[in-house]
Parts: sequence; C-alpha cells; structure tokens
Amino acid sequence: ATLPYDDQNIFAKILRGEIPNRTVYEDEWALAFHDINPQAPIHILVIPKGAYVSWDDFSAKASEAEIAGFIRAVGHVAREQGLVAPGYRLLANAGINSHQEVPHLHVHLFGGKALGPMLL
Ligand code: 5GP
Repeated sequence: ATLPYDDQNIFAKILRGEIPNRTVYEDEWALAFHDINPQAPIHILVIPKGAYVSWDDFSAKASEAEIAGFIRAVGHVAREQGLVAPGYRLLANAGINSHQEVPHLHVHLFGGKALGPMLL
C-alpha cells in the first residue's frame, strides 16, 4: 500500500516555493530542477505538480491529462538539455525496496557522460 501524501515533504515545499531550487523547466503539469547531490554531469529531477507519493500512486490515480503532461515534460527536458543524441537514463524509485527518500514522485534524468551498464 502507498503511504498517504505528506505535504511537508521537501518537493512539496519546492513546489510551493518555500525552498529554493535550480529550475530548468516548468509547465502546468511538471517542474524540473537540478538534483542537489548530482550523480552525473546532468542530474535533473522531474516531478508532477499533483500530490502523488510514487509511480504507483500516480499511475493509479492521476488523470490522463496529468500523466500525459508529466511524461511529455520529461521528454521535453531531455530534448532541451541536448540529451537525445548522446542518450540519457531515466529512473524512478518507488517504495521501501528502492530506497525512495522523498515521498513525492520524481523521475531522475541522468546524462552528460557515458553512463555504463545499469547497476542495481
Ligand atoms: P530518491 O532516493 O527519493 O529517488 O531521490 C531523492 C533525490 O532528491 C536525491 O537524489 C537527492 O539528492 C535529491 N534531493 C533531496 N533533497 C533535495 C533538495 O532539497 N533539493 C534538490 N534539488 N534535490 C534534493
């Protein structure tokens, strides 16, 4: 079962403008900003504007428009960052086994170098 949404989580505060962030893209559906502790030369987090804990919550409860808007935003950011030709990696942690730390859905966008094979 998914945890209830905690509106004090750090990304909720970022969405409300209570904590600064380095925004790279924003639209009606999504906000994208640099990860504070980057694991690659480009490490951006893309989050939906709606209150969803994880991929599970989002895929089960979000409207078609929210899902489409969010996925389009992820693709837009990757293109805008020049990552299509060199390639990039998307990752979303969900729940305990994944070690998800922030309980607001986020997709990690990694790029800017050869990332190597995916490791667990
Ligand atoms: P998770 O482990 O939940 O998939 O990833 C959470 C990510 O959020 C981590 O990569 C971490 O560095 C990032 N993060 C945590 N707190 C903040 C913050 O206050 N600002 C930004 N920009 N990133 C954060």
